[in-house]
Amino acid sequence: MSAPSVAELPPTRGELAIVGRSNVGKSSLLNALARRKDLAKTSKTPGRTQLLNLFALEGDPATGGSVVDLPGYGFAKVPARVRATWGPMIEGYLLEREGLRATLVLVDGEVGPTALDVQTLEWFEHHGLAHHVIATKHDKVKSSRRDARKKELAAKCGLEPRQVLWVSAASDVNIDELRNRVRGWLA
Ligand code: GDP
Repeated sequence: MSAPSVAELPPTRGELAIVGRSNVGKSSLLNALARRKDLAKTSKTPGRTQLLNLFALEGDPATGGSVVDLPGYGFAKVPARVRATWGPMIEGYLLEREGLRATLVLVDGEVGPTALDVQTLEWFEHHGLAHHVIATKHDKVKSSRRDARKKELAAKCGLEPRQVLWVSAASDVNIDELRNRVRGWLA
């Protein structure tokens, strides 16, 4: 289901939030985690891109948890008027949501963190909110370049390389590992 504000989301047993700029690979990761092909398609249908989209992790009774796909930030095509409401909505959710157990901040592993990603991470630090940085698109970087890229990406996020999990939804890299971690956080 989709809701325009945190007040309109039903309570859940525990949920995982996914944050990231448009095109970072959020929908692909959500589908991979849920082992579904088109689960996150719903959140991309016109009119829903600015809503909080709540998914039950179906077919995963061990978890029984939910995932909230937050609107992608920094989407240039969106009118400023609409963009102005995103920040407060996302912030309201992250700061007030009772059932929130963990937040993933996605960073594109191919292009590294953008200025907006860094701002987002600073916002988390500022509020003392725990979060996990997940790099995406592992398959898009040559294996010979991966160590250096990961080091660079982590440094720009103010982290050690071991604090970043690098996944690929396309090549199924570290998806099981992430799913296991999510299970732990939602347990
Ligand atoms: P969203 O806007 O953050 O939901 O991003 P999407 O999941 O729609 O992905 C944006 C683009 O990146 C699409 O063209 C995807 O096919 C591509 N993409 C996403 N994840 C991966 C990945 O792990 N590997 C590769 N090669 N491409 C990916």
